[in-house]
Amino acid sequence: MAERLYRTESIVLRRSDFSESDRLILLATPLGKRRVVAKGVRKTMSRLAGHVELFTHNTMLLALGRNLDIITQSQTIHGFSSLRSDLARISCAYYVADVYDQFTQEEEENRPLFELLVQVFDGLNTRNNTDLALRWYELHILHQTGYRPQLHYCAVCQEALTEEANRFSPTIGGVLCPRDAQADRTALPMGNACFRLLRYLQSQPLEIVDTMTISATVRAEAERLLRTYVRYIIERDLKSVTFLNSLRT
Ligand SMILES: [Zn+2]
Repeated sequence: MAERLYRTESIVLRRSDFSESDRLILLATPLGKRRVVAKGVRKTMSRLAGHVELFTHNTMLLALGRNLDIITQSQTIHGFSSLRSDLARISCAYYVADVYDQFTQEEEENRPLFELLVQVFDGLNTRNNTDLALRWYELHILHQTGYRPQLHYCAVCQEALTEEANRFSPTIGGVLCPRDAQADRTALPMGNACFRLLRYLQSQPLEIVDTMTISATVRAEAERLLRTYVRYIIERDLKSVTFLNSLRT
């Protein structure tokens, strides 16, 4: 019987041992998230092994399987070698993969989301302000999955926000005007510099993170607001957040 094959770009998001010689692999692809099998890659002679590494961008040829599809060929497009040789950057990549996993369903075609991932992995590979790259990623994946935080109009009354706005509501999903902020007990305090940072990252391409000088206090504030919002949507703690925090000195 002829195998049914398809070719796709992919990023390897997670790998686990499946049997003595095979690995189970979680892929992000333009066709959606997929759990697939890489056969024989735990053996030293495997030609495939070097092309299914964690956090690499590849072109793959897959065979439709009864339950799980099988990788039959893989060619690395981008190995993201700086990212993969630096523990701090690796911890960011785990977080990026975790968030993507939480915000997507299997086999749901979404090319823009895949392109966002390629961009952020490339950013983590080459840019210096990796924490700002993560904030950029959070804002943009939230946008693409229908949770774009409201940063220009009050998330409750839709009135245009002014510089006076100083509360972010993770439960409503955006910044509140002073009047509505009083009524929302979940709203978190947000300084003006943090407000401007979030707006800027939401509207600009990823490249700008290298040109920004942002204080540690404002970075920490932006991280807390977006983490709390993401945590509220996915309703769980991510292991990768613990990993990221553990690397902090
Ligand atoms: Zn309002």
